Amino acid sequence: MKEYTFLDMQRLTTPYKDELYAACREVIDSGRFLHGTQTTAFEQELASYCGTKHCVAVSNGLDALRLTLRAWVERGQLQAGDGVLVAANTYIATVLAITDAGLRPILVEPEEETMNIGADSIASAATNGAKALVEVHLYGTPARNSLIRQAAEAQGLLILEDNAQAIGASENGLRTGAMGDAAAFSFYPTKNIGALGDAGAVTTNDPELADTVRALANYGSVKRYHNVYRGYNCRMDEIQAAMLRVKLRHVNEESARRKEIALIYNERILHPDIMKPAIIDGMEQVWHQYVIRTPQRQLLREYLRRHGVQTDVHYETPPHMQPCYEGMEHGPLPLTERLAHEVVSLPIASLTPDEAKEISEIINQF
Ligand SMILES: *Cc1c(COP(=O)(O)O)cnc(C)c1O
Repeated sequence: MKEYTFLDMQRLTTPYKDELYAACREVIDSGRFLHGTQTTAFEQELASYCGTKHCVAVSNGLDALRLTLRAWVERGQLQAGDGVLVAANTYIATVLAITDAGLRPILVEPEEETMNIGADSIASAATNGAKALVEVHLYGTPARNSLIRQAAEAQGLLILEDNAQAIGASENGLRTGAMGDAAAFSFYPTKNIGALGDAGAVTTNDPELADTVRALANYGSVKRYHNVYRGYNCRMDEIQAAMLRVKLRHVNEESARRKEIALIYNERILHPDIMKPAIIDGMEQVWHQYVIRTPQRQLLREYLRRHGVQTDVHYETPPHMQPCYEGMEHGPLPLTERLAHEVVSLPIASLTPDEAKEISEIINQF
């Protein structure tokens, strides 16, 4: 029986091996492993790709999120205990960053179509003390930023994008990373562009925020041995920057490949018990995950496993149901909890179009 792996990292990396080896050699020969030209060049290239003025390369996506929130606290734009709106179906890292910065997550239900926070949730800021929101572009689908921005501006909220899953996505031509007051990226190996280890970045048009994030990521120092903040060590390595420069050159090809698979699935999966993800007008989605829904999730997953198709679930347990957030205050979250029971991610990142057709056929026989 043919096996369809959920994510074949070798298949993903092989086309770029020669370029990666060459970039690696360049860093080794340079003798410079931190604070060097690769990191600076990657920052410029990512800022230019997103359409922002500034970029700070950091250690990972969680750090990118928490450094930005912490920088807003240091700059007085947020105060300890301020509320931060976030869709309750996000990955836990988004919520960890909020609590780590001494802020208070306000969990809201996502919109059913985009699975992201909607503009409607933002009106609640008038009564719940929210001063910021995290706009997570989950699964590679951008949040409805133009509506969200309008509502956020009316309430005076800062917008932080969690862009771990949606590099290259856009709404009416505006790319993720340039939508909010700042954006956090993850380059975890399985993300749309992956480092050969951990890496992340912050993009923004605010030069002072960029300086504060950069200082916080480097022991809180603005110049050597002069520490303005009680900072961290969250820098990106030169070697990861060099790997990411290679990957960034190919990100549009990668997105196009994912989109081809997503369109095959969307056209060919025809099953009354399966809800497919929405393809949304005016948006370019980058398909970090292809997520279907079914009330019969366990049966479907077992059936697919018997037919050689690996699947995954993003995510089984929402942050408010994790032990680390026991007792956390939140309103009713029925949609979030239903999604946690119904979502199934199909293989996409390392799949060929023929395999997507075969998997669609297998699903239709369920
Ligand atoms: C992966 C991810 C993160 C965390 O990124 P790391 O680089 O693993 O720290 C944060 N938010 C979302 C939505 C993610 O998918």
